[in-house]
Amino acid sequence: MPEILIVGAGPAGLTMALELARHGKRCRIIDKLPEPLPFCRAIGITPRTLEVWEDMGVVRDMIEAGIWFTGLHAITPDGAKDMVEDLSDLPYATFGLPQYSTEEILTHHLSRRGIEIERGAAITSLTQTDGKVLVTIEHADGSKEEAEYRYVVGCDGAHSFVRRAVGIAFEGEGFPFDFMLGDVEIDWDLPRGKALFSIRPKPGEAPDMFVAIPLPEPNRYRVSMKAPPELAAPDKGTDHGIQSERPAPGIEHLQAVADDLLPEETILSDMRWSSIFRISMRIASHYRKGNVFLAGDAAHIHPPTGGQGMNTGIQDAYNLAWKMALDDPSLLDTYEAERRPVGVDVLERTVAASKGMERTVKKDRLADTQMLIRYAPNNWIVDDLPGTNGPLPGERAPDCMGLRQQGVHFPQRLHELLRSTAFVVLIDARQPGKLDEVVEDFSSFGWPPGSLRIVAVVGPDAELSSPYHVQVVRDDEGTFAKTYLCGDASEYLIRPDGYIGWRGKDWHDSPLFQNSPK
Ligand SMILES: Cc1cc2nc3c(=O)[nH]c(=O)nc-3n(C[C@H](O)[C@H](O)[C@H](O)COP(=O)(O)OP(=O)(O)OC[C@H]3O[C@@H](n4cnc5c(N)ncnc54)[C@H](O)[C@@H]3O)c2cc1C
Repeated sequence: MPEILIVGAGPAGLTMALELARHGKRCRIIDKLPEPLPFCRAIGITPRTLEVWEDMGVVRDMIEAGIWFTGLHAITPDGAKDMVEDLSDLPYATFGLPQYSTEEILTHHLSRRGIEIERGAAITSLTQTDGKVLVTIEHADGSKEEAEYRYVVGCDGAHSFVRRAVGIAFEGEGFPFDFMLGDVEIDWDLPRGKALFSIRPKPGEAPDMFVAIPLPEPNRYRVSMKAPPELAAPDKGTDHGIQSERPAPGIEHLQAVADDLLPEETILSDMRWSSIFRISMRIASHYRKGNVFLAGDAAHIHPPTGGQGMNTGIQDAYNLAWKMALDDPSLLDTYEAERRPVGVDVLERTVAASKGMERTVKKDRLADTQMLIRYAPNNWIVDDLPGTNGPLPGERAPDCMGLRQQGVHFPQRLHELLRSTAFVVLIDARQPGKLDEVVEDFSSFGWPPGSLRIVAVVGPDAELSSPYHVQVVRDDEGTFAKTYLCGDASEYLIRPDGYIGWRGKDWHDSPLFQNSPK
C-alpha cells in the first residue's frame, strides 16, 4: 500500500502523482468524479510551467496538442489596438492548451508509470493521530473503506474537503455576479493564435466584456463574459468555478453579448459546451497541517485574469513532490514558506487586474510568465555571499546555451544538463588544477547515493574529459561565465526544482551541505 494519498485528479493532483513517481515514490490518487470534466477552464500556460513540463518529460506532448498565443486584439471605447508581448528573451512564449488536454496528457504519462486514477472515490472523513492520517473513502458502489497514510495531499479544488477536515481557514470574498463560458466556432478573420478582448466600462458596476481565447482547432474559441440577469442566480450553486449543476447558457445568450460588444457582425456557432461560472478570491491560512498538505485551488482561488490559477497549482505540486519523496522534515517545512507567498501575490495581482486597478499596482512585464517567482531564504535557500552580483539563491536557475560535453556533438543548454531528480552542484572549474580537485573531492561527501550530482564547467580552451562521477562541460560561448560567474560566487547548488539553493565559494564550508536530506 503506498504511503501517500492524493485527493483530486485535477492538474495539481496529477502533477503531484507524476512527480512523486518520477522521484521514485508511489502514491494512490483518487477522484470523486466518474469522468474528468469536459469544460475548458484553464487554457493559458505560462513559460515557467513549460519549463516545469520540460523537466517532467511531458512538454513535447503538450506543445503538439496546443497553440502558441500570438497577441491580443483589444477593443475599448477609445478604439481598437493590437498588442503583442515580446517574450523572445525567455525560453518559451505563452502557450494555450485546454485544461482537459493538460489533464489527459498528464493522466497518460501517469498511466505509463503504472499509476491509474481511482475514479468515483471520494474522501469523506480525515483525522490525524501519531503522525498518521486516517481517512474514509466512499466508492461509487456505496462501499466505504478505511485507510491509513503517512501523508495526504489535498488537491481537491476550491471546495476542498481535506482543507475543511483539518480546519484550515479560507478567508476571502466572491464577485457578486455570475459569468458565462462557452466553446464555439467564430466566423472572423482574426489571425490564428490571437485573442480578442472587448470591454465597455459601466460607472458604478462591473464593466461589460467579451473575451475570446483561441483553442487549438481552427476558428475555435473559448469565450467568456458576464451572465445576463435572467441567468444569474446568486443564491444557487457554489461560490467559485464552473456551475455545472445549473442550467447552461444557450448560444443565443453568448451571441447577444457578441452583438452588443463587437464592432462588426460576428456569428458564433457550433457550441460544444457552455456553463455559468463564479469567481471568488481566497487563500488558505496554511498550506500544511501535520502530515496533510494542500496544493492548487484547495489552497488559493482567484480571478482567471492572466491565466495564473492552474499554473500556480502545478508549480505548488512540483515544489512539494520532490520534498515529499525525500521525506525530510526540514525540506517539507519549506513548502508552505515558499509557496504561500506565491499564492498571496497571485491573489493580489489578479484581483487588482480584475477590478481595473492595474495602473496602481506595479506590474513587471514578466510577472504573469511566473519566471520571476523567488523564494525567501530558509534552511534550503542559503546565500554565502549576500550583497554580491549574480543569480541569487531562491531564484530559478537561469539557463545557458552552447555548453559542450565530451562525446556529444552538439551544443547543450544548462537546463538539459540539470534535468534529473538530484541536487546539482555547479562548479567553476576554469582554474588549472580545479577539475582534478573536484574529482578527488567527490567521494568524501556523504549524501545518499544518487541525490547529488556535480557539473564542473571548464573554460573554452580546456580539453574535454569525462571523469567518473563528475559531468564536465565546456563553456564554449562564455554564456555560463557571463550568467553565473559575474559576481563573487564560483559554486552553486541547484535544487531538483531548478531553483538555486545555495551559492558561495566552497561547498564544503556551507552548513547546507552538512544537512544532506535524511
Ligand atoms: C473560466 C476559468 C478560466 C480559467 N483559466 C485559467 C487559465 O487560463 N490558466 C490557469 O492557470 N488557470 C485558469 N483557471 C483556473 C484553473 O481552472 C484552476 O486553477 C485549476 O482547475 C485548479 O486545479 P486543481 O487541480 O487545483 O483543482 P480542480 O481542477 O478543481 O481539481 C480538483 C479535483 O478534486 C476532485 N475532488 C473534489 N473533492 C473531492 C473529494 N472529496 N474526494 C475526491 N476527489 C475530490 C474533483 O472532482 C476534481 O477533479 C481558470 C478557471 C476558470 C473557472
